[in-house]
Amino acid sequence: MSDLENNVEETLPEDYRSGVVAVVGRPNVGKSTLINRTLRQKIAIVSPKPQTTQRRQLGIFTDERAQILFVDTPGLHAPQHKLGEYMVKTAESAFRDADVILLVLDASAMPERGDELIAGTVERLRAGTPVILALNKADLLTPQNYEPNIAAHEALIPHEEAFVLSAFTGEGVDELINALIEKLPQGPRYYPADELSDVNMRFIAAEVIREKIMLLTEKEIPYSVAVEIDSYKERSDDMTYISAVIYVERDSQKGIVIGKGGDMIKKVGSDARAELAKIVGTKIFLDLRVKVLKNWRSDEKLMQRLGYRIKDED
Ligand code: GDP
Ligand code: MG
Repeated sequence: MSDLENNVEETLPEDYRSGVVAVVGRPNVGKSTLINRTLRQKIAIVSPKPQTTQRRQLGIFTDERAQILFVDTPGLHAPQHKLGEYMVKTAESAFRDADVILLVLDASAMPERGDELIAGTVERLRAGTPVILALNKADLLTPQNYEPNIAAHEALIPHEEAFVLSAFTGEGVDELINALIEKLPQGPRYYPADELSDVNMRFIAAEVIREKIMLLTEKEIPYSVAVEIDSYKERSDDMTYISAVIYVERDSQKGIVIGKGGDMIKKVGSDARAELAKIVGTKIFLDLRVKVLKNWRSDEKLMQRLGYRIKDED
């Protein structure tokens, strides 16, 4: 290795910036997709079902100008059970810690009641923090609805800037990043340049498995599932062994997740294996089991065991 390569303590420009961007918005507007897009790699799971993202997770963007810590917050909505309450608390504490609030909106449709509620909550809790709008899903806008949709979303809340973009195609995303960087204070790199998230591979593996179940199942099943990795081993350079338990809340749900003749669990396994192989870069041996953990979503102790932190740590 040359001296240059050895010198990991890269000198940063004096005006280097860093800070936290809280990503908020109604479920399904594309928050996770947008974060994955800015990092050019998938760290957050995405599905067409609302409330796919349940926990607070950092997405770390680093370049030569700045480091942005994106906090992907679960959607704000009326709490229905303990898990819902947890999600709302997480989102509210994210506003308080943020340097910038990025409100993501689905510009392909007119604003909904949910957008108005969130805009109101942001307005109430922002305490002077700048708000930037990401008017997402621009790829779905037509010449007819472009102007009225954008205007209606911009009218939701006073904001510093608004960007029409598509997390899906990447259009407009660089402009957003530039604007976010401008709003951040001067500061250090909190994380190494190559770190994309504060969660480890075990967590990502559990989330990928959960995502596949959410995509393949219906009704209440997607929200009744928790995944716990009980073993994660790099067996060799090209083989990783992962064993996981899928928890459901009732016996009937267990039958559905396993499927006729094991069809569903096989499909979950092969989809998760293919995706994890891409992320990890080795072949994956995946062992999945399904267990019933009665009403885990209403039980704080069980939720803690499954890694949902209820306590609001500042
Ligand atoms: P979140 O709940 O806000 O995190 O939303 P997700 O990132 O999980 O996205 C919800 C759905 O919207 C997924 O099916 C995405 O593929 C889709 N989506 C996200 N961004 C875009 C976009 O810019 N254009 C289109 N057409 N679809 C998008
Ligand atoms: Mg999400």
